[in-house]
Amino acid sequence: MVGTPGDQGRRQIVVAGAGYAGLHVALRLTARQRNNPVLNLTLVDQHDYHQAITELPRVAGGTRAADAVRIPLQKMLAKQVRFVQTTINGFDLAGRRLLTGAGPIGWERLVLALGSRPNDFAIPGLEQRTLPLYSASDAERVWAAVSKALTAAADPRAQRRLATVVIGGGGATGVELAGELAEVLPEVARRHGLAPDLPAVQLVEAGPTILAGSSPQLIDKATKILSDLGVQVRTNAKIAAATADGFQLTDGQLVTGGVFVWAGGVKAPELMASSGLPTGHNGRVKVDRYLRVLDHPEIYVAGDLASVVEPRTGHALPPLAQVALEEGETMARNLDAELNDRPLEAFAFHDKGFVVSVGTRRGVADIAGITTAGRLAHVLKDAIEWEYRQSVKHLRGWDPVAH
Ligand SMILES: Cc1cc2nc3c(=O)[nH]c(=O)nc-3n(C[C@H](O)[C@H](O)[C@H](O)COP(=O)(O)OP(=O)(O)OC[C@H]3O[C@@H](n4cnc5c(N)ncnc54)[C@H](O)[C@@H]3O)c2cc1C
Repeated sequence: MVGTPGDQGRRQIVVAGAGYAGLHVALRLTARQRNNPVLNLTLVDQHDYHQAITELPRVAGGTRAADAVRIPLQKMLAKQVRFVQTTINGFDLAGRRLLTGAGPIGWERLVLALGSRPNDFAIPGLEQRTLPLYSASDAERVWAAVSKALTAAADPRAQRRLATVVIGGGGATGVELAGELAEVLPEVARRHGLAPDLPAVQLVEAGPTILAGSSPQLIDKATKILSDLGVQVRTNAKIAAATADGFQLTDGQLVTGGVFVWAGGVKAPELMASSGLPTGHNGRVKVDRYLRVLDHPEIYVAGDLASVVEPRTGHALPPLAQVALEEGETMARNLDAELNDRPLEAFAFHDKGFVVSVGTRRGVADIAGITTAGRLAHVLKDAIEWEYRQSVKHLRGWDPVAH
């Protein structure tokens, strides 16, 4: 069992996952408990770095290095936090233990924040024939595949097909990646001795619009920027199968290309299916208004893994970093409340707006009911990401041992 001598008598809090939600819980809770020398907090992740996932489209488009989005956890965590780098393989709910590659880790309170995985919706061939975009390594692979395809496109017989990148899924991830690639590929083609207008980017979306659920104004403006960048957007194009020849659509059409990326949605990690916890749509874990698992008040869930129903709409909140951070904030307050015998607070989501970059210079944003598009929206996206990195660094300042 992972632990240290002298743990007895201290409430063992284990945070599983150092992504947006889990890291936020760990940072915020240590900040709140900075005068508690015996806080017993363990953070578990398979990596010793936090990934700035919202920046992955830039890595996949070759405009940012993969290492720039891997932020070492050691630089962020207060000395009160014990970090265990290992893979979580399962749960012993009765024994209150996480089952990991480093042995079982016991908890009194568990925070589950394991994020999500690409959802292939059981479309045949999709998992085998497309590249996902959910980690820095995934993004590196997309950029490597695009570069390789352009090198191979020097062969005049297969030029156009090889130099075409096809992205499945017209949500924010697909739109950001399409815009980024459309903007950088002409220059990359030039460097490969190819005509700058040879590369093509296609965005294939099953629904009637890209950015489903956004305002019509935002969708319109994003569509215009994509069109301006030369991205071919195909809506109402449902993929039936991914084959060696390309995406086979349900209407019989074949979408060919040199690189295929899947950005069509996410689901809970596989290990949740056998966790014994109540799950809903896409395997997300059902929680109460305090973000505790139904019938398991000793387990909290945050981020993409949590199915948090918004009372006003009756729908689960979308898998977004913004939601993960707000949930992490409430959870840190609730764990602090438990340690101090105060009542818990119910989670309420305060939507700050929606910003999507479209290409390396422009973007679209819906904030407080106002839609903007162009340079300003892109600057806003940059500012949000910069502010996030600063906030993560700033919280380190609370380290009670270092200060
Ligand atoms: C390409 C892309 C762009 C995005 N852009 C935006 C955006 O602009 N704005 C926005 O709001 N949202 C965006 N999102 C969504 C956002 O990234 C997620 O909602 C957010 O990362 C969820 O946070 P999380 O803490 O739940 O999970 P994650 O941030 O994914 O963290 C999960 C953590 O759990 C760890 N983990 C998982 N399984 C195990 C295991 N078995 N053992 C050990 N460790 C494990 C992982 O290593 C990881 O550190 C984007 C997503 C993608 C894929």
